[in-house]
Order: sequence, then structure tokens, then C-alpha cells
Amino acid sequence: MSETIFSKIIRREIPAEIVYEDDDILAFRDINGQAPTHVLFIPKRPIATLNDLGDDDANLVGRLVLAATRYAKAQGFAEDGYRCVINCNRDGGQSVYHIHLHVLAGRQLSWPPG
Ligand code: 5GP
Repeated sequence: MSETIFSKIIRREIPAEIVYEDDDILAFRDINGQAPTHVLFIPKRPIATLNDLGDDDANLVGRLVLAATRYAKAQGFAEDGYRCVINCNRDGGQSVYHIHLHVLAGRQLSWPPG
């Protein structure tokens, strides 16, 4: 797949406020936060969309979600609640084609989405 801005963030070629990192995952604050906390958890391996995941990625996806839940607990908003979202393609509202798990917290979020 072609590179996105997130590959540059992974390589530290452009700045981002990184809040979590391990061998396979990076998390950083969204540049256009939609809630008091808005963090993106991404695999370091560039996978364009949810549709590009295969069986071999099950562990990676699970670890992405677990990293987000650990972050929620560590930051103290797990009990109040939060939202995890992965947008896919045009109708899902995806704008960066490198899978990312949005974690939004710190205010009451409306549902259903517009
Ligand atoms: P999507 O619409 O693809 O689900 O979400 C992409 C997200 O990436 C958006 O919320 C957008 O604000 C965020 N984003 C886009 N470019 C950058 C950037 O250069 N730095 C950071 N930190 N976030 C970005």
C-alpha cells in the first residue's frame, strides 16, 4: 500500500504526541481531537483498512484493543467510559488509509453517529 502520514509519525519524521509504544503498536493524540481524550492506536505495520486484515492478524488486532483498554484504565477514564472506533473506507468515514483505533473519552458521546 502507499504510505500515509502515519508511517512518517512511526519513523518520527513528523511530530506527534506519542502516549504508548511497543514493538508492534504506536498510540498518539489525534491532531484534531473530538473529545478531551482522543488517541489513535495503530499497528506499526501499515495495513490500509479493516478489509485487508487476515487470519494472521487476529493477535495484532487483539493487542491493539487491549493496549487501548489498558490505556483507558491507566488514564482513569475506563469506569466513566469511552468509545473505540475503526472507520473503514468511504462510507465509514476513513481518511487515513493505515488502520487506526480511535479512543475517545472525557465527555458524553452521542449515539447514533451522524
Ligand atoms: P479516520 O477519519 O481515517 O478514521 O481518522 C483519521 C484521523 O487521523 C483523524 O481523526 C485526523 O484528525 C487524524 N490525523 C490526520 N493527520 C494527522 C496527523 O498528521 N497527526 C495526527 N496526530 N493525527 C492526524
